[in-house]
Amino acid sequence: MKKGYVTEIFSSFQGEGPYAGRRQIFARFAGCPLSCFYCDTSYARDPRQKLCNVLFLDKKTRIKRNPISTNAVIDCIKELLTPDVHSICYTGGEPLSSAAFVKEIAAEAKSRHLKNFIETSGISARAFASLADYFDFASIDIKLRNHGAVEEKDYDRLYENELECIRSSIDRGIETIVKVVVVKNTPVEEIEGICEDLAGLDVKFVLQPVTAPSYLQSANVVPSIKELFELSETAGLYLHHIMVIPQVHKFMHIC
Ligand code: SF4
Repeated sequence: MKKGYVTEIFSSFQGEGPYAGRRQIFARFAGCPLSCFYCDTSYARDPRQKLCNVLFLDKKTRIKRNPISTNAVIDCIKELLTPDVHSICYTGGEPLSSAAFVKEIAAEAKSRHLKNFIETSGISARAFASLADYFDFASIDIKLRNHGAVEEKDYDRLYENELECIRSSIDRGIETIVKVVVVKNTPVEEIEGICEDLAGLDVKFVLQPVTAPSYLQSANVVPSIKELFELSETAGLYLHHIMVIPQVHKFMHIC
């Protein structure tokens, strides 16, 4: 049985994309090699987090020591199950950084007839392919050049991996959501190029206006409604399911 590093396990409502508002049990895996400037889970980027916080339904937090076993994660999921749960959400950090561990947990959850939902930045097409058979839903980010996720020299490789994860997800019949965080002055041509690459693929395409982290509140990074109209209209030239959805959990003040 595998062990890995998990930052937190909790039950909440999905806060992004077309499944916003659905109850999920979240397992947030530690570690992420990217460095998006708007990151709101920077505490989860350390791959060797010592402790895993489990927020149980009685609102009490129990702390488990990492590395935590697959069975221990499954036990937490079992305790957090409520009748309204839509799926188990594997998030991060970056869950593909712990692909073998995530795969083992997802296989176990699937054997218990639970649905699996992965949120990933698509950093590795090979890692995604290794676990995708256990997933029902995939929300795959495409990072833009101005996100600062990787150095400019590494951007094309990241983008190719993201596209390959999306194709691989669709090929397996996984319901596939593509999310792009947009900031002020996002180049229309960049969104157009992405949509051109996605044309013909069965994806739900989400433009997510950035939520400025507290240290950027005065930096005016949020796109205007005029910009969002223009980006959405551009996407509409190539794709069918286009949504502009902010992070709704920020309005609800929940994690
Ligand atoms: S991919 Fe996610 S966790 Fe990683 S730096 Fe970007 S926003 Fe943060």
